[in-house]
Amino acid sequence: MLKAFTAAFNAPEEAVSYPDVDTRKANHDKGLCMVEAYLDSEHGRMEELPLGVEVQLEEDLPEIPSPVLGYIDLVRPGNVPVDYKTCASTPDVQLEAFQHEVQLTLYQLLIESATDEKVEGRELVFLVKTKKPKIIVHRLPAATDQEKQRVLDIACAAVDGIYHERFHPQPGMHCAWCSYRAQCAKWTGGER
Ligand code: SF4
Repeated sequence: MLKAFTAAFNAPEEAVSYPDVDTRKANHDKGLCMVEAYLDSEHGRMEELPLGVEVQLEEDLPEIPSPVLGYIDLVRPGNVPVDYKTCASTPDVQLEAFQHEVQLTLYQLLIESATDEKVEGRELVFLVKTKKPKIIVHRLPAATDQEKQRVLDIACAAVDGIYHERFHPQPGMHCAWCSYRAQCAKWTGGER
């Protein structure tokens, strides 16, 4: 695994530029530390065989007027979708679960639709980039029918907004990591 990490780091799918060789080495070493920490963790040492890795699923869910496409990092026995997240500091797992509700629940809906089987849970695995990397696993129960309906309603509202081009700015904390702030700042509401 460690060799595979270094090989992938040295031959990225898309070119990556670093300001200098020291930064490149620091990034490589930090990544290697993260992989080692994961391999040493209970999650990394699990002996069960995964049902799938990097699973691509695409379904026309009847409730959403547009296909849903998902790439699921890992599917564990019980059809449990797992998503890996990296973060700089120890996460508030309840907040993260709220923020990733749509993603995890759509994964559940995709798996249920593809297999006609139950999903027994949903899982987030955080690779925390602290000085000594930490691995935090947060298991959630499967979404209930009500929770699934909420996510479908959110998705329908989003698709409706895209179809009708409701692209007005909605400034908030999320602007801190938005790549489109310059374009957004020029938004005037239409033709003006
Ligand atoms: S800066 Fe980005 S996230 Fe913030 S309102 Fe504009 S488009 Fe949305």
